[in-house]
Order: sequence, then structure tokens, then C-alpha cells
Amino acid sequence: MAPVRIDLFSDTLTKPSAAMRRAMAEAEVGDEQKFEDPTTTRLQERVAALLGKEAAVFVPSGTMCNMIACRVHCRLGDKIFLEELYHPVVAEGGGYASNAGATLHLLRGERGMYAAAQVEEAITPPSDRYAARPRLVWIEQTTNMGGGAVWPVERMREVAGVARRHGLAVHMDGARLLNASVAASVPARDYAALVDSTWLDFSKGLGAPVGAALAGSAEFIAEAWRVKQQLGGSMRQSGVLAAACLFALDHNVERLAEDHANAARLAEELAAIPKVRVEPVETNIVIFDIGETGLARADFLARTLEHGVRFSHVRGWPTRVRAVTHLDIAPAMISEAAQAVRGVLSHA
Ligand SMILES: *Cc1c(COP(=O)(O)O)cnc(C)c1O
Repeated sequence: MAPVRIDLFSDTLTKPSAAMRRAMAEAEVGDEQKFEDPTTTRLQERVAALLGKEAAVFVPSGTMCNMIACRVHCRLGDKIFLEELYHPVVAEGGGYASNAGATLHLLRGERGMYAAAQVEEAITPPSDRYAARPRLVWIEQTTNMGGGAVWPVERMREVAGVARRHGLAVHMDGARLLNASVAASVPARDYAALVDSTWLDFSKGLGAPVGAALAGSAEFIAEAWRVKQQLGGSMRQSGVLAAACLFALDHNVERLAEDHANAARLAEELAAIPKVRVEPVETNIVIFDIGETGLARADFLARTLEHGVRFSHVRGWPTRVRAVTHLDIAPAMISEAAQAVRGVLSHA
């Protein structure tokens, strides 16, 4: 099999740069669990400030941020309202149930965004003992399987307003919150102000190897620490990891705009190929549909791989392909990737 030269599978594929590795090597460290790791403490304070929240806690992954949020917000049987292709539904091994005993109400959105009226319609009265108790409304910013769409502040405000009126909490999965912020020129804290808990992932477009930070009220984060301990997410000299995350905040945020520009160019080139239907692109995710070409998706993915280009798929949509741009994708690779698609489809 040809080596993968252009890997558009996910923005998780970024490798730490030499400069990031130097920052990691030189990090001042201590015991994180005793709050004695100065680098981790600095990262937590920085994230809390960036998101306008009272406190933040550093954890190994974004998935753990979501798990902790489920646990802190929900009691056994409680219901979470979210879009049907959000990350906990498709990629967290059912952790909302195994870790938090939570249940889900799936909403069908458009490009991963649902409407406030859908939530209003779905919420049952707290006195209704036949329904699972409604507890948490969940927003993914940007929407991953929805194609990297950015929830506008106003739309989020409407959804959060419905949640508040019914006494529900709001959580925002911020795996790509900074992509949204850069694309829309909206400070991350403006989105975060509308929710009770949110987080940043450092191992996606920000280019760090490991790490995420969950933010919320001081009370919420105190509880989050307890769950982090229970899940085995408490670390020791985590400063070597936190240093990579601080480096990412210093160097890799504004440049997300380059990933967005690359994604827009890829979308443009793909849209020019007959029978390829490209979804609108706002950030670093491009979703395109090859149903009309008559080529099965599995064959498409295998054949583009032979050209050294790797894409991924959208679960639940048998003809949709996903491409994600990131730090290790240079502009020149975009035309090459589009060329590979053209080549594969012209022989189909
Ligand atoms: C990647 C991702 C996560 C999980 O983050 P990890 O750090 O990989 O555990 C959660 N939500 C969304 C939308 C993601 O894309």
C-alpha cells in the first residue's frame, strides 16, 4: 500500500513540532494532584480566563471532559438533549451511560445544529415520571459530523434560553471552539458565557499531542476534580503536557485561519468535479457526497488511499466523505488531494 502523504483523516493527526517539544522538555513540573505542578496550574488559569469561567481543570482528553460533564450535571437516568451525530453518540463508547447513567434524546439538526423550538418541543415537565428527567442541553461547537458548522451566538442564545426556562444546564463540547472563534471573529468567552460548562481540546487543530481543559464555575470544577480522580484522569508531572498546550495557545490559534482557507480551497476544487456535491464550509472540515458518481464509498476511500490521500467517512450517511485540514497540511497538498479525487472518479 502506498504511504499516506496527504492525511485529511482528522485534525488529531498533527504531530508536535520541534519547538513544542522543546517547550515540553523545559517545562517546570510538580505533582498535579497536589496542585504543585506550576505549568498545569498556569494552563488551567489561562483557559479559565480565555473562556471567562471561574476555574478550569486539565484532563487527558476531550472525551474525558464530556464524561466528567455528564457525571457532574446528571443523575442516574437523566436525559441529555443533543444532535444525533454528536461525539458522545458516535465516538465515546456509550460512556454517557456507563459512566454517568445518562440517557439521550437525539435531535435531528441541519449541519449539526438544531433549533430552540426542537428542544422546547422535546422537554417533558419535571413532574412527568413516565419520561426520563430532562437535565442537560448539549451544543457541539463546531459541529464535527455536521461539517464544521459554527453555531451563531444568537442561535445558541435561543437554545440556552429554552434550557434555562426549564431549569436545564447547558454544556458545550468545545473540541473545535477556537476554530469557531477564529472563523466567526467571536471571542471564545462570548460562546462560553451562554453555557454552564465547556472545554478546549489541545490535540485537534491546536497541534498538541495530549490534553483538554474543562471550564465552569468553581463549584462545578471542584466536582469535576472528584470525577477526574474517580476516572483515573488525575496525573502527576503533567506539566510536560500542559507546556505543549500553552505553546499551542501561544502559537497555533490565529493560524487556524490557514486551515480554514485550505478547507475552503479544497471545497472549491472538489465542487468543480462532476457529480461531487460539497457541503458549505465554514472552518476546517469539508464534507462531500459522492453518491451521484456511482462509486461505492469504500472503493473511493481505498482508491484515493492508493494515491496517498486519506479521507474519512460520515457515519449514518453512506455516501458522504469527510476531509479535515490541520497544521500538517500545506496549501500545496490541497490541489494534489483534489487531483487524486479527480483521477479516481474519472476512472470510475
Ligand atoms: C475529538 C472530539 C472529541 C473528543 O476529544 P478527544 O480529545 O479525542 O477525546 C469530542 N467532541 C468532538 C466534537 C470531537 O471532535
